[in-house]
Amino acid sequence: MSTSEPESTTPAHLEVRGEQRLLIDGKLVEASGGASFVNIDPATEAVLGDTADGTTADMDSAIAAARRAFDETNWSTDHSFRRRCLEQFHSALEAHKEELRAVVVAEAGSPIALTYAIQVDLPFDDVPYWAEQAERYPYDRSLPERTVFGQRTRRMILREATGVVGAITPWNFPLFLNMAKLSPALAAGNTVVLKPAPDTPWSATMLGRLVAEETDIPPGVVNVVASADHMVGEVLTTDPRVDMITFTGSTATGRRIMAKAADTVKKVFLELGGKSAKIVLDDVEDLGAAVGGIAMGVCVHSGQGCAITTRLLLPRSRYDEGVELAAAMMAGVPYGDPWDPSKLAGPLVSAKQRERVLGYIEKGKAEARLVLGGSVPADFPKGFFVEPTLFADVDSKAVIAQEEIFGPVLSVLAFDDDDDAVRIANDSIYGLSGDVTAASEERAMAVARRVRTGTMGINGGVYLAPDAPFGGYKQSGVGREHGTEGFEEYLETKLVAIPAEAGSPKLTG
Ligand code: NAD
Repeated sequence: MSTSEPESTTPAHLEVRGEQRLLIDGKLVEASGGASFVNIDPATEAVLGDTADGTTADMDSAIAAARRAFDETNWSTDHSFRRRCLEQFHSALEAHKEELRAVVVAEAGSPIALTYAIQVDLPFDDVPYWAEQAERYPYDRSLPERTVFGQRTRRMILREATGVVGAITPWNFPLFLNMAKLSPALAAGNTVVLKPAPDTPWSATMLGRLVAEETDIPPGVVNVVASADHMVGEVLTTDPRVDMITFTGSTATGRRIMAKAADTVKKVFLELGGKSAKIVLDDVEDLGAAVGGIAMGVCVHSGQGCAITTRLLLPRSRYDEGVELAAAMMAGVPYGDPWDPSKLAGPLVSAKQRERVLGYIEKGKAEARLVLGGSVPADFPKGFFVEPTLFADVDSKAVIAQEEIFGPVLSVLAFDDDDDAVRIANDSIYGLSGDVTAASEERAMAVARRVRTGTMGINGGVYLAPDAPFGGYKQSGVGREHGTEGFEEYLETKLVAIPAEAGSPKLTG
């Protein structure tokens, strides 16, 4: 376990420079109320700088601009123009990659090692995939001729952009999630109002600046409205000019968004929380490797990941050995200064999140056996750090087995046989991800098929890629991000019927 104090070790070439301004109708602007809010470095508690504190009036202007850009420009119909714009955006992202990397480490407290994968490099590398989709996707297709009510009819299916998309994102993987919304929504021809989490505003406002200054994306197509007030984001969910909400965040907020969007019957796409299970079957050969992966995984970015497997399900025959191995692995997880490339975990994002996680740990102490951690580390007087924490002998109905903690906390549960493992894995309101590890791939696959989640790894298989749909069953969400399924979330479907004798319609896609 690391004991190094998180002194600022920011390399000079990664000096942190954020963007204070919002992007509304192609212009970088201060908030209409003139106010700003502070951006805090969660590793040091130092103030990084300010961000314009968008108001409901700013949100109104952004929605108006997005509506106008959708209704009055050819953005949604000129597929090759969109491709070119996304390619420009990609070049701009690449040119400013180091500034963005620094912002993610500073404002999200992300270990810099993660920025070379999911936090920065991965979403940037994915942009060309979406640029190509913009042009190559088959927007128009024909159905076979058919006699309908006595009339010979030719039918066409046209896939069209949904319209104005409100994108609301959380702070844990801010750049990745902002790009996971922007890239497919823009590629499909929508206009967007992006509302980032108040903890990580610059991962969005910086994107706004690049769009405005380094691309030909028309004014109003991309708007970025940061705000300290969640209710400013809520305007997106009720405004009739917004056609769709794409949201990533907690299940509680997802429920509220769904209810608010009901009045205007918006399309709602939700990526929510998880309480995913890693199941280790009793034939596993290398128990250390199986358990070590999850013990490490639950600590990465201090457990602030929705798809992390936070329940470890062990067979009774190998339970004690498995708990010992998990404890040994977690005790060695390097955490601390997020600028240190050897660290896998930094702080939690805010004092509020740390309080929330510590509250769950206290509940856990009352309902399970604390094996490791359970406190704020004594050698980190500054920053929102929590020790890697392991609970064993956890009952499936315990709060720490049911609720999403979003901290470096692992709960270990015992099972009797494969059926029991499936029953426990499915004993959750969530259904986001999971993993089954076994010597027999066939047996692992049989278990994986029965777990009610949107993604499953087998023996540690990795599922995150731009062409692979990701999302949740049950209360983990509605819809899929990434892949053709993810692209089509941002499209409407129009059916056109023409009498067969009227000549051939023109297909464009
Ligand atoms: P959150 O739900 O509190 O906030 C997410 C976003 O919603 C923020 O931008 C916030 O300002 C906004 N928001 C809050 N209330 C709103 C309202 N009433 N109307 C409109 N917008 C509102 O979530 P969080 O604490 O920022 O993030 C952590 C949660 O996100 C965890 O539960 C985690 O599992 C989930 N998450 C899910 C995924 C996924 O892909 N499924 C990915 C990352 C995080």
